[in-house]
Amino acid sequence: MKDRIDEIQDRRTLDDEGLRMLLDTRDDAMVEALHERAREVAEERFGKRVYLRALIEWSNVCRNDCLYCGIRKSNRTVRRYALTREEILSSCENAWSHGLRTFVLQGGENPPAALELAGTVAEIHASWPEAAITLSLGELPVETYRLLKQSGADRYLLRHETASPEHYARLHPTSMRLETRIRCIRALKELGYQTGMGMMVGSPFQTTEDLIRDIRLIERIRPEMVGAGPFIPAKDTPFGNESPGSADKTLRLYSILRLMFPKLLVPATTALSTLLPDGRRQGILAGANVIMPSFTPATRRADYALYAGKSHEELQTIERELSAIGYAVSPFRGDYDER
Ligand code: SAH
Repeated sequence: MKDRIDEIQDRRTLDDEGLRMLLDTRDDAMVEALHERAREVAEERFGKRVYLRALIEWSNVCRNDCLYCGIRKSNRTVRRYALTREEILSSCENAWSHGLRTFVLQGGENPPAALELAGTVAEIHASWPEAAITLSLGELPVETYRLLKQSGADRYLLRHETASPEHYARLHPTSMRLETRIRCIRALKELGYQTGMGMMVGSPFQTTEDLIRDIRLIERIRPEMVGAGPFIPAKDTPFGNESPGSADKTLRLYSILRLMFPKLLVPATTALSTLLPDGRRQGILAGANVIMPSFTPATRRADYALYAGKSHEELQTIERELSAIGYAVSPFRGDYDER
């Protein structure tokens, strides 16, 4: 097992057998060794510094019906909202004044509204030219991706959710296709976005083999960021009574990603800290290097319930937690650095 950890670090890849072992072993000492090695690699590259991203949950209006997601179209219990231009700008102002240098606008998939958002993106870019703008707005026409990029967006997050077409089909309505998603991810990369993909860990029907396929897809596409969090059941959805994914497996995945892709931007996700009170800290200690505190206006947070009990990350809490383990917030934008 130990040699697997050496191998994945040295070769920056591992065969399926080795990945299966790292993901499934019951040897706690080995898992601890895996996290430790990943933590060393992260520290070598980033120091004991964590990049923060201000998460602004722009709108919960969505045309999709993903079976796992709390804001899916057919969930009638959701109170739908979209932040106004003024609310978005004041959220950015708030984030900037707290020292954050990346704004993430995330929301449901709503192509006409996303197109209209380009004006606000341009305003954000003009007001805070030194800040990075990340978008997470789902699948959009390439022309819209291009316009948003030209308006000043730097990065885009679009999780592939699962790299197995059969598994993808069990998590989404037939109108949604893994192929389309991958085409969007490739288009974003070609347009020059720092691009993020990612998957849920322990979503219904997922197997270890599916996770291995996720890792292989990431190896092929080479995104700049990978977001992975445990599945958490959302009420009033078809998967509302399913069991949540495993925090332990999520942490192992962070370590594997860190060892395979030392420069990768890997957030300790909100879903992880929703499941595990200590999730952010454990995520960082397993090799993650990004945290996304919420800067969504307090009045809207409860309406952006992707899953039950969704926590919102508060800046002071994060700073306190990090300093307790000898880490600190980075003052930089934290772009992907190829060197
Ligand atoms: N609509 C956009 C962004 C919002 S959803 C998009 O599709 O990209 C952001 C992410 O939340 C999704 O990619 C999914 O991986 C995650 N998510 C949604 N429902 C979840 C659940 N029940 N448990 C855990 N993560 C979930």
